[in-house]
Amino acid sequence: MDPFGGLDTLRFWPFESKVEAATFWSALGELKLHSLKLGEGPLPLRASWSPSNHASQPGLLSVGADSLPQPGGGGGAAAPAPAGGAPDLAPPRAAGGSPSFDAPAQLWVLNTVERLLKFDRKAAAQQAGDRVWAAIGSGAAEADPRLLAPALLLAYCDLKHYKYRYWWAFPALQPPQPIALAAPPASLAAALGGDAAVAAVAAACAAHVAATGLPAWLVSMDSGGGDGSSAALPGVATAPLTDWARVRQEAEAAAGVPGERQVWLAVADSSHLAENPGWLLRNLLLLAAARWGVRTLGVLCLRGRRGRFDASASLALHVTLPQVPPGYAPPALGGWEPNERGRPGPRTADVAPALDPRQLAEAAVELNLRLMRWRAVPALDVGAIAGTRCLLLGAGTLGCSVARCLLGWGVRRITFVDNSRVAYSNPVRQSLFNFEDCLEGGRPKAAAAAEALQRIFPGASAAGVQLSVPMPGHPLAAADEEQVARDIAQLEALVDDHDVVFLLMDTRESRWLPTLLCAARGRLALNAALGFDGYVVMRHGAPLPPEPREVSGAAAGGEAAGAEGHAAPAEQQAGRAAAGQAAAERAAAAEPPGDQRAPGVQPPAPASEPPSQPRGRLGCYFCNDVVAPLNSTVDRTLDQQCTVARPGLSAIAGSLAVELMAAVLQHPAGAAAPPLGNGGFGGAGAGATGDGDPSNEGQRELPLGGAPHMIRGQLSGFTQLCLTGQAFSQCTACSPAVVRAYRQRGRAFLLEGLRDPTRLEDLTGLTELHRSSEALMEAWGSSDDEEDEGETGGEAGRGKGGGGDGGEGGGGGGGEEEWEEL
Ligand SMILES: [Zn+2]
Repeated sequence: MDPFGGLDTLRFWPFESKVEAATFWSALGELKLHSLKLGEGPLPLRASWSPSNHASQPGLLSVGADSLPQPGGGGGAAAPAPAGGAPDLAPPRAAGGSPSFDAPAQLWVLNTVERLLKFDRKAAAQQAGDRVWAAIGSGAAEADPRLLAPALLLAYCDLKHYKYRYWWAFPALQPPQPIALAAPPASLAAALGGDAAVAAVAAACAAHVAATGLPAWLVSMDSGGGDGSSAALPGVATAPLTDWARVRQEAEAAAGVPGERQVWLAVADSSHLAENPGWLLRNLLLLAAARWGVRTLGVLCLRGRRGRFDASASLALHVTLPQVPPGYAPPALGGWEPNERGRPGPRTADVAPALDPRQLAEAAVELNLRLMRWRAVPALDVGAIAGTRCLLLGAGTLGCSVARCLLGWGVRRITFVDNSRVAYSNPVRQSLFNFEDCLEGGRPKAAAAAEALQRIFPGASAAGVQLSVPMPGHPLAAADEEQVARDIAQLEALVDDHDVVFLLMDTRESRWLPTLLCAARGRLALNAALGFDGYVVMRHGAPLPPEPREVSGAAAGGEAAGAEGHAAPAEQQAGRAAAGQAAAERAAAAEPPGDQRAPGVQPPAPASEPPSQPRGRLGCYFCNDVVAPLNSTVDRTLDQQCTVARPGLSAIAGSLAVELMAAVLQHPAGAAAPPLGNGGFGGAGAGATGDGDPSNEGQRELPLGGAPHMIRGQLSGFTQLCLTGQAFSQCTACSPAVVRAYRQRGRAFLLEGLRDPTRLEDLTGLTELHRSSEALMEAWGSSDDEEDEGETGGEAGRGKGGGGDGGEGGGGGGGEEEWEEL
């Protein structure tokens, strides 16, 4: 108290904030990352505060995860507040034993810590103060006194390190002169005159708050029995603030009469201090002065214990209010909360120590992807890529590069297929292996690669399958046929179980079976192969549409009988069911697949006619060939058997394969996306980069800018070309004839093709083509017999020129180099 006996200025205890660290910050981080991005707000925030409930603690103003606007609307605080506008408050909720009250709060999520520190705090506080003053003037604050306790929150989210800087403000309006205490603060018992009166007032106040959910109200009561001994009922009544005039009139009418009524302004009080009321009262008293014109007022500050209003903890004040002149425009006080050290400045919340490191890793990977959408590619569908299930056939240099790049895109589901073991030469080039993997004969590559992926990113779901992909032209003993049939069945199941298949093996012919399976079973295939200093990366054409069932049934009998009498009708049915299963059934039912297939990899819609080569369908790895794939591993010298490629190639080609997949998945047409590049089939020339090609225009608008068919690069000269090649109607791996035979006869057909690849040539008409071209050559009087002989041992027929309808892969590409295929 003032030692000179004058009026003592009433001081108020500011709100103190509490942030539910476990939920609020992660929810705010999500909001910033996914919805707000570079936007900073202000956003409406649902903060709430409660009266003090403990002798040594104030009631806190708190926020949790549900205080934030819900993305996509819904919830109390959905849309950002109009600039400078007041956030809406939810309707008051009936407050039970432990009341709490919403505060009109606003949130700014600033993009840098510098912006947080330089934020115009004065202006923001004044705006909030002006809104309070307007609400006082309009009567809105009288009807809903929650409007008198605004709050501002500035935040900066360091999403990389899980650190949050934040600064709360609780703006208050300055009265023309200070508010003074007319008497020392007193207990309720002393002020109200006796325990009976106190009990009656406490009960009436609790009932009022429970009914209205508002933090300020009026109490009127008879003053009779003020000696504290009377058992007379004090006649307590409560009323909303809007009833001020009536309540006051009634009290004045009773003036001088025994049982004169007194009127109190009552407030739920967040302060716990013996002489200082909480922050809400500050603006509330200015309301009383400005709107009611009163100069003296009794105030009951109600506090609680154990979740209920408790008179013994509460406070009674007699205040003297200043006169508020007309046209007064109160300056606003920021009420910025000090930091942890009690100094002016933002606080810091470091959430990282509380998080599971695995969660941190997952969130960090997600962060990098989501940040692409802030500025670089807002339309990017990150989930379409990350949700893709990838099958990697080959866990060598290419497999390792592809897997690591997939992780970067957030892909979690990765399965390796390989049948070899880690050798001493591998770790320096194959990024998922190390020296220990080579010991004792070497660990199986597929399993070792999968384990390495899990170590790099525990959120991944990687698996390794030790399996030999059956290859045409390799000796197939009758005794091995059962095993090969099992391998085929496993490969079929793996293809069905993934969305995208990467062909990353070390021989050409091992790519034949997966190419056919992808064409027939509706999967996007991506192929990468290396030479010494060149690479080719390509996507295969869209899978062929499934055939109507009646057609396949009729054709099956004839063809099977003609082939070898090997497949009985029942077997054909079984084979077809197994073969066509996924694609045919899904398409026939004409409903979306039940699994979580990535968009863009859906099998095509059912065709109304038997499949023919769809116009403009892109070629596969074998579409350039006019002979079936043969065993390329015989008669190879050591340098032909081993990895002889410039060491940087695999990382380049592997990354390109993944980026090509990403581009396809971001294209609305998916696997059927028209090729980016030279704008036509087989018409490439040097410098076919697609610049100026009108057919590329639309693709440039896509998030990742379209997808070429084929990318050929050469490290000697550091050149790279995008090329396009149409599917070859007599291709031994992807042509309608081969796909149809497989769908109808299943594994029996595959075993025949593996045993004797020339059967594939018979089937597609290549044999006939050879005959007629030989006849043609003879007619011209020349023979290329010797040349033919020479080719069968090595890279069979690679790049032999555009047989059939435009098989040559884009012409002027990398010439006729032989791919080592590592
Ligand atoms: Zn093909």
